[in-house]
Amino acid sequence: MELKNNSGEDSLKEFRHFGQQIVETASLFYSRGWLFGTSGNLSAVINESPLRIAITGSGLHKGKLDLSGLIVIDGEGSVISGDRKVSSEADLHIAVIKHMHAGSVFHTHSVWSTMLSRRYLKDGGIVLHGYEMLKGLDNVRTHDHSEWIPVIENSQDMKTLSVRVTGLLKEHPEIHGFMLSGHGLYTWGKTPAEAERHVEVIEFLLEVHGRTLAGTGNIS
Ligand SMILES: [Zn+2]
Repeated sequence: MELKNNSGEDSLKEFRHFGQQIVETASLFYSRGWLFGTSGNLSAVINESPLRIAITGSGLHKGKLDLSGLIVIDGEGSVISGDRKVSSEADLHIAVIKHMHAGSVFHTHSVWSTMLSRRYLKDGGIVLHGYEMLKGLDNVRTHDHSEWIPVIENSQDMKTLSVRVTGLLKEHPEIHGFMLSGHGLYTWGKTPAEAERHVEVIEFLLEVHGRTLAGTGNIS
């Protein structure tokens, strides 16, 4: 891959470093059923100024990715290098990176995030409270923590969605993730490793919550 920016060699090294982590995480998440049917996308900042983001290309099988399936985009979503098409969802990655100072953003389409985001859209989000697993989230020290995961109405108009997401992130800088209704989860971290941990923790908690609701017959 040729990176047409000022940082040259360093950016290429960063691209390979973070790109490899994205490829490995994508394969892991695919095997867990969180990225079926070419869904979802994963990104990592490889250079802060100018902003350069490595992100999975549009429409690719996430269990069979290699570095050629990644592209590098700038802070406006324009492709700087790579042969793949940019996903329309890249705008949301950029919004999270800019407003949450994230180093990595992962977006999954799991069964539980799809179901629960539909159920809790009318409430504006879901509260997860009292679980030991919450301590896997950055800066959470106790199970006695209430994690608010907002739900935004899904849209195919990415500009509208970006505005909604930006408003949400400004209003709730404390959150670790959000969901799009009937669609999936966005979460992030300072590094790809932290973003991966946040996906695992939130997906685990959503499944616990969903299975608990199902046990009461209250999941529809
Ligand atoms: Zn999606």
